[in-house]
Amino acid sequence: MSSLAVVVPAYNESEGLNTFHQRLAATFDTLDLDCSVLYVDDGSRDDTWQVMEALRARDPRVATLRLSRNFGKELALTAGLDHVDADAVVVIDADLQDPPELIGTFIEHWREGYDVVYGTRASRAGETGFKKLTSSAFYRVMDRLSQTPIPRDTGDFRLLSRRALAALGQVRERQRFMKGLFTWVGYRQKAVVYDRDPRFAGESKWNYWRLWNFALDGITSFSSAPLKIATYFGFAVALVAFVFGAWVLLKAILYGDPVQGYPSLMVVILFLGGVQLMALGVLGEYIGRLYVEAKQRPLYFIDVWHPPHEAEDGTA
Ligand code: UDP
Ligand code: MG
Repeated sequence: MSSLAVVVPAYNESEGLNTFHQRLAATFDTLDLDCSVLYVDDGSRDDTWQVMEALRARDPRVATLRLSRNFGKELALTAGLDHVDADAVVVIDADLQDPPELIGTFIEHWREGYDVVYGTRASRAGETGFKKLTSSAFYRVMDRLSQTPIPRDTGDFRLLSRRALAALGQVRERQRFMKGLFTWVGYRQKAVVYDRDPRFAGESKWNYWRLWNFALDGITSFSSAPLKIATYFGFAVALVAFVFGAWVLLKAILYGDPVQGYPSLMVVILFLGGVQLMALGVLGEYIGRLYVEAKQRPLYFIDVWHPPHEAEDGTA
């Protein structure tokens, strides 16, 4: 029988985890597959780990993994994906915003021969207008800038075939913008549209600062367009400054220059200074990322790993 492994990154999700597991286990029972789930505790501060361990004690299909500290969702996900071995792998959030029941549909498409099946949100209940607005702006910018088309309104909820998982496993960059990487590996990809539910319990771990940084990571790891924009902008400004300089010089030669020109001087200096700082900032963003990659640190550390029980029949 083919196998399915579900990877669930969780950070401070103890309140909702039992309900999540109930719904996931119910979904497992409808599937004609050898199912297992790997819960990844991303250094939670509440009793998420205890809840996971309790689930593992009750259900042999549960495996657990605890990171040595909070590494962030992208790395928790990576750690999880590194520790599963199955014909199909599904990634899903622990907060029930992504309905586990949809996994059945993912599996159908996987059986049709798709390698990556991803959930695209038709609606996002329980999220503020501002969040929807900024998120749609982000996708629009990404669309223009990135060479890899990144599907809109698509989270990390998706299924990967064995070869897509193996391909992703070879990508070891540190600034991991998973949405982009999932698409980047290629193979046959398929979207499934669904309605996103509000969070079941607890609250989102993403504030706007985190989201902004996430967006920066996405843009800088999938596009060097900002560098180009900075260059062209710098060129354009330099050209204008050159023409203006020539004009000032010519005027001084032709008509002489009694001490005027303080305003134009200031404007030019400030403007050029501003443009330079901006271009330096863009450079800095990329250099900072090169620096992080150059250190070649491991992506994460494992604290505890309980792999799934060996060959037990999947009913508990
Ligand atoms: N998460 C994680 N590590 C973190 C932050 C979040 O593993 O540092 C998990 C979280 O427990 C959840 C998923 O990532 O299962 C999505 O997080 P959240 O619901 O906060 O994001 P949102 O749905 O608001 O984008
Ligand atoms: Mg969520």
